[in-house]
Amino acid sequence: MDTRLLDSPHAMIEPPIPEDETRRLSALRALRLLDTPAEERFDRITRTARRLFGVPIALISLVDHDRQWFKSCQGLGINETQRSISFCAHAILQSAPLVVADAAADARFHDNPVVIRDPNVRFYAGCPIHSPDGAKLGTLCVIGREPRTLTLDEVCALQDLAAWAESELFRVCLSETQLTLIQERDDLRRRAMIDALTQVWNRGAIMEVLRAEAARASRQAHPLSVAMVDADGFKLINDPHGHQAGDAVLREMAQRLRGTLRPYDAVGRYGGEEFLVILPQCGSGAAKVLAERMRETVSAVSYAAGKQNLAVTASVGVATWEPGRSLDPDELVGIADAALYRAKSAGRNRVESAT
Ligand code: GH3
Ligand code: MG
Ligand code: MG
Repeated sequence: MDTRLLDSPHAMIEPPIPEDETRRLSALRALRLLDTPAEERFDRITRTARRLFGVPIALISLVDHDRQWFKSCQGLGINETQRSISFCAHAILQSAPLVVADAAADARFHDNPVVIRDPNVRFYAGCPIHSPDGAKLGTLCVIGREPRTLTLDEVCALQDLAAWAESELFRVCLSETQLTLIQERDDLRRRAMIDALTQVWNRGAIMEVLRAEAARASRQAHPLSVAMVDADGFKLINDPHGHQAGDAVLREMAQRLRGTLRPYDAVGRYGGEEFLVILPQCGSGAAKVLAERMRETVSAVSYAAGKQNLAVTASVGVATWEPGRSLDPDELVGIADAALYRAKSAGRNRVESAT
């Protein structure tokens, strides 16, 4: 190995570990937010940040022991990076927002892999997000590919957005069923329940949510609906535009679906381009309305995938269980699947409900 390289005064500087690291990490763990499904309430903040600052990338990043993990991520196709290359791990060392006007000219970052290669970070501004006892858990940050500075007014706006993210961190919004599922698992098993591409529950986990919601619906004699949402003609996206474009569409589709749901609804990736949505306390009339909203939102505007804009529609099959009958979760999914099949046969881009 060429040790001169390691000793080079020009190499990037890895983020130092904060003094209160042990306390910081236990505050982060206590949140039970790492490796949980993406949530609309956080995406709303990063979307706003991206628009407000006119940047391609905005994140809510939590700095874990050896990685940073994104609770919300706009404009990057990944959910975590190593801590050693993280800008946010530098940002949590100070109280004021960290503004890096030009990463290529900054000793801490100039040859960082995310600067010299994709996503080619040049501008970074991140404001720490605190736990109630003041530990810096991560940041709300905006990232651009061109050098840039922030006005004082913009720094204030970034601080406001970080405060908004802070207030969301401590507002529990997932249903009790989903929370229980999260709290019963240790970190590793929790990570294995999330779909890496779309950051929603994966198939095994969403079926666990469904079984728990079914038991609860029976117990409390509330109706329960499920919706199967399948992208139409997805092969026509992948074949001409490439698998990466298809992946970008799927990520965005999952995000749009989440945006239509009530906080206690759950969404999971059931198959390749197929999502299962669970709607507790939802009778067939309301389920139809929600399913129609999902179909519209998924199809309303085209998807930005690389340099292209792709139009995508989806078909939805809905099934509802009403109290007084027996309830088999797998059977309910089968009924939704059959309704989906009818929606496909009837021409796609439509909702069909089981009667
Ligand atoms: P239909 O309207 O009948 O649903 O047509 P379709 O083309 O969407 O249906 P089909 O199930 O035949 O094809 C699904 C395609 O989705 C095939 C597969 O290449 C693609 N797909 C599945 N998983 C992924 C994924 O993770 N990423 C990408 N990019 N494509 C995927
Ligand atoms: Mg399909
Ligand atoms: Mg399919």
